[in-house]
Amino acid sequence: MNRKASSIDRRTAIKTGAAAVAVVAAAGTLAKPYIARAQGEGPIKVPPLPYKDDALAPVISANTIGFHYGKHHTGYATALNTALAGPAKDYASLSLEDIIKTSRANPNRAAVFNAAAQVWNHTFYWNSMRPGGGGEPPAGKLKDEIGKAFGDFAKFKEAFARATIGQFASGWGWLAWDEKDKKLVIQATSNAETPLHRGMKPILTIDVWEHAYYLDYQNRRADYVNAVIDKLINWEFAAKNLG
Ligand code: MN
Repeated sequence: MNRKASSIDRRTAIKTGAAAVAVVAAAGTLAKPYIARAQGEGPIKVPPLPYKDDALAPVISANTIGFHYGKHHTGYATALNTALAGPAKDYASLSLEDIIKTSRANPNRAAVFNAAAQVWNHTFYWNSMRPGGGGEPPAGKLKDEIGKAFGDFAKFKEAFARATIGQFASGWGWLAWDEKDKKLVIQATSNAETPLHRGMKPILTIDVWEHAYYLDYQNRRADYVNAVIDKLINWEFAAKNLG
């Protein structure tokens, strides 16, 4: 853990009281996810990471996860909870998915959409990866559908990496199920945009906002995307999403 992250832990621990200090000290690498949970005031919660914050290293470092999950993801939830307590009070009883769809259709609620979609996208992203993942999906429906839509896994991988790496500026690369055409599609979306409100069912995603990789890869987005595909993709999660 670097010095800057440690000082953030200490400040937050002091703010959240003596009990928090004990938990942060005992939890070791879980210190930063603990902080994220402590900050989640309001109806929208950021779920705990599905692994320890150093579990994806060296592809994604604990330092990146600490800022990305502990600060960025949590920050979107805080922004959304603030909106739901005030200007967007009429959305407070909706599910996160319904907040995303409803706010996307209302240009006056762009800030709510951005916060809500980013909360959802990030939770989906953490689950799209696992330690020891990546490579080809196991035999089954998902692999068959990849073959039908893209020819074979190598062709899928090349197209998915190209679209994700090529997303101009901040955004996301997705594998999604097109409900209308009944086939897998690759999508690249800008900012907080998600296939959720496009008649698509997300299958897996890679975050290509700079905060997702800059601490580890600087400007080498292609190296980050290829390493995630080769070493981290959670194909079991993807297969479950396809159903
Ligand atoms: Mn992100």
